[in-house]
Amino acid sequence: MIIALLGGPGSGKGTQAKKLIDKLGIPQISTGDIFRAALKEATPKGLKAKTYMDKGELVPDDVVIGVVEERLAKPDLEKGYMLDGFPRTLPQAQALGEILKKQSKVIDHAILVDVPDEELVARLSGRRTCKNSACGAMFHVMFNAPKKEGVCDVCGTDLYQRDDDKEEVIRERLGVYNKQTAPLIDYYESQGLLRRVKGVGPIDQIFASIEKVLS
Ligand code: AMP
Repeated sequence: MIIALLGGPGSGKGTQAKKLIDKLGIPQISTGDIFRAALKEATPKGLKAKTYMDKGELVPDDVVIGVVEERLAKPDLEKGYMLDGFPRTLPQAQALGEILKKQSKVIDHAILVDVPDEELVARLSGRRTCKNSACGAMFHVMFNAPKKEGVCDVCGTDLYQRDDDKEEVIRERLGVYNKQTAPLIDYYESQGLLRRVKGVGPIDQIFASIEKVLS
């Protein structure tokens, strides 16, 4: 099963993706994670991506599509996979369609985790991420506080606020989302692939709604 998860920054799609891959036993492909890993290793691609990520802008399509094409050629994707944070523009969605066509595959579901803008700002500015990239656990100062302030419950590493979770960057990211990514909703709706899920409420309730649209 091939699933694309859509939703604004802070919609909780990363959290839902993790639950879903556990349940379905398929890998998650997150372009944001790929860029953060590349940045940590200071590869040319990672350093290029950082200039965009720090400003809340999208990394250029050709760079992102190249990275995804490389990832989709790997042999661990037989049972399917979940795309998280990709596609984010119409050219990316079209390129994905072409890549899949060459592999005689199709997307099965494009799930939209739907959350109003004001809620997204409140959520993102309180988000804290584990510094240990192998863990990557996420917390929230209001909605999901760690047991000990500033420390990861899972692995004990310090938590930090991602540069792109600072308020001015969040506003920019939301603007970018509404302009460049929201058109994908119509794109997938017209193909009969869009599954819309209300992304407000307890995490497990949202997950149950996702399971329902997949069944
Ligand atoms: P994320 O973790 O998905 O929120 O991604 C963090 C940042 O990485 C985004 O704000 C973009 O700068 C960049 N990025 C991740 N995925 C994409 C994509 N599909 N297209 C363009 N930029 C991306």
